Amino acid sequence: MECAFAVGNFSFRYGAEILSVRRRVFQSRTFPATLKRIILERDSYCCRSCGKHRDQLIAEKSHLEVDHIKAWIDGGQTCYENGETLCRECNIAKHHSKDYLRKMKALS
Ligand SMILES: [Zn+2]
Repeated sequence: MECAFAVGNFSFRYGAEILSVRRRVFQSRTFPATLKRIILERDSYCCRSCGKHRDQLIAEKSHLEVDHIKAWIDGGQTCYENGETLCRECNIAKHHSKDYLRKMKALS
């Protein structure tokens, strides 16, 4: 019985941590590891642009990344609602769009 309680208690704490991270806005530009994991799980480990799954990407020597939907340079926050799963290629393509490069140039 002691063991079952410990397992239940751990599970409760983990659930509370997820809820807390989902509600938070982080000051950092990079997504903290726990938030990344929650977003990857929400997106079923698939790129939201091309739809490729993590397993397929690994076979292609690529990987998934979590990025801001509304860009950080546009005031986009590092939080659950503003995070999306993209494969490396789609993320690079997004950041090489003319619009994004123009904004980066304006900041430098
Ligand atoms: Zn992709």
